[in-house]
Amino acid sequence: MVVFTDLDGTLLDHDTYSFAPAQPALAALAARAIPVVPVTSKTRAELAPLMAQLGLSGAAIAENGGVIMHAASPSDTKPDIPVTRQTITAALDALPTDLRSPMQCFQDMDIGQIAAVTGLSPDDAARAAAREASEPFLWRKSGPPPATLSEALAKYGLCVTRGGRFFHIVPPRDKAAAIATVLAARQTRPQSWVLGDGPNDVSMLLAADRGALIANAHIDTQALLPAGHCLYISRQSGPAGWHEAIVAFLQAEFG
Ligand SMILES: [Mg+2]
Repeated sequence: MVVFTDLDGTLLDHDTYSFAPAQPALAALAARAIPVVPVTSKTRAELAPLMAQLGLSGAAIAENGGVIMHAASPSDTKPDIPVTRQTITAALDALPTDLRSPMQCFQDMDIGQIAAVTGLSPDDAARAAAREASEPFLWRKSGPPPATLSEALAKYGLCVTRGGRFFHIVPPRDKAAAIATVLAARQTRPQSWVLGDGPNDVSMLLAADRGALIANAHIDTQALLPAGHCLYISRQSGPAGWHEAIVAFLQAEFG
């Protein structure tokens, strides 16, 4: 089996980014040679130091599914990216002014401005800005962006999704589709154990052989689950909930 996991609010504490409570479960998985694959909205540049801290070196999924590193270390493999940043820039350049001018994209800002709007340190802002397959933007008008924006971007094979603070221009490959791509690349399809806490994790959780929704005090993701789902719902949040779910899955699998 392979474990696929969201990071923020799931394997990492929502506020402190600690994963200490999950460490015994990570060790138990490592002892059984069960790989752990991060599936995150972060960029490859943000993911590399985190994976080193977590002791992970295999496959990883970044930018909400837009970037897949199939194996080896994130720094030295060629990532699988369905839509390049150049395509996103071309799509933005082709937008009429009434759609483009209310957008404040990462590429319109310098690192200092990105640090200011995200609250990240300048170094972290630089890593967050190193995007390869998606573009976050603020919408400087009241109400959400109009359907005409989605229609214009669709001509370039791109979609618009809403994150917490930002909207994102993304390729049509979400976290669930990226996991399916990683599983399909294996010679024999492994069982998937998938953990996440947010609304954008629901599709990958429901597609898993074993899925765990990690409790989150900030978002009621459970309200988005269909009736009759068979996900494990953790009692604790963040890495403590991650530990709880992995222990339950190992128990169910191996007794
Ligand atoms: Mg999360």
